[in-house]
Amino acid sequence: MQYREFGKSGYRVSALGFGAMNLPGVPFEQAKEALNYALDQGINYIDTAAAYRNSEEIIGESIAHRRSEYFLATKTGERSYAAAKEQIDRSLMRMKTDHIDLIQLHYVNYVHEFQTLMGEDGAYRAAQEARDAGKVRYIGITGHRPELLAKWIAKYDFDQVLFHLNLAQPFALDELIPALAERNMMRVAMKPLSGGFIQPIDKAIRFPYSQDVHTIISGMVSVAEVKENMAAMEQDVAAEEKLELEQLARQLGEHNCRRCNYCSCPLEIPIPDVMISSMIREKFGLLPKGDGFYQKHKEKLFSCADYEPCREKPLCEEKCPYHLPMSTVIRESTSYFG
Ligand code: SF4
Ligand code: SF4
Repeated sequence: MQYREFGKSGYRVSALGFGAMNLPGVPFEQAKEALNYALDQGINYIDTAAAYRNSEEIIGESIAHRRSEYFLATKTGERSYAAAKEQIDRSLMRMKTDHIDLIQLHYVNYVHEFQTLMGEDGAYRAAQEARDAGKVRYIGITGHRPELLAKWIAKYDFDQVLFHLNLAQPFALDELIPALAERNMMRVAMKPLSGGFIQPIDKAIRFPYSQDVHTIISGMVSVAEVKENMAAMEQDVAAEEKLELEQLARQLGEHNCRRCNYCSCPLEIPIPDVMISSMIREKFGLLPKGDGFYQKHKEKLFSCADYEPCREKPLCEEKCPYHLPMSTVIRESTSYFG
């Protein structure tokens, strides 16, 4: 396992981090085994969130007795001071620890939300107070709009940012990662498989691994998945391979969707998933999870073309800050079914 200097923290973080979001979906003994196996293998960064069902409790029950072996990152999705304060205290209890290494303000995608967070009655003040009290060591932020995150970290005091970086979403490379690197901030990349769409898995892991980030959190639920992710990182990425991966990421990212979720569809078509998987589907086909997604939403995808209110002007496209042609991509996606 490769270790990297984690910003200004003095901590040497493992290049692979354990994303604990999906642990609530598997039997407790399996989750416990996966977490302990990851620590045994030298993974020393665990990421969760108050919002991930009982993920924090699973961590508390499974590895609290090994607390000195990992850097613990969680998130508060609350926006107000009072609610965030309460949630941070609850996270400490659930994870059976007296300190959280990193509290991240979770899923901040709108300017107005950010202003609320940073205001006198906002969650940021709760995070600062927790830091002053020794309950938290660092404050970070997560979101799906890399250019907004780049602006915010230039003006406000954050230690870390968690952002998407994968073969289908390379957008953090443009502004955000250079801005973070310039300030020597902690850089954590998430969703290397973009929720299960990207294949082959070794390329999916090796792309963010080759970039200027400190750790990549991959959502894992079993010992087999920990092994698979670690295997992809066994060899360092040479310059030529890095270039190839970057070229591939440019192709697979041509859809330009950031997953900001500003758009919504009256037919409940999961627009960002279709957008993000569109190029991968064409080039590599889909993994069973991706195929399952398309089969599940088949009828909805077909109904987009006949949906009367979107005939003249697609409702979803009015909301996209990047002015993307979502209706065309959705309608074209039905070619997957032959
Ligand atoms: S164009 Fe299609 S995807 Fe967009 S809102 Fe209308 S029905 Fe939904
Ligand atoms: S299609 Fe546009 S609005 Fe919808 S998630 Fe992607 S970038 Fe955001």
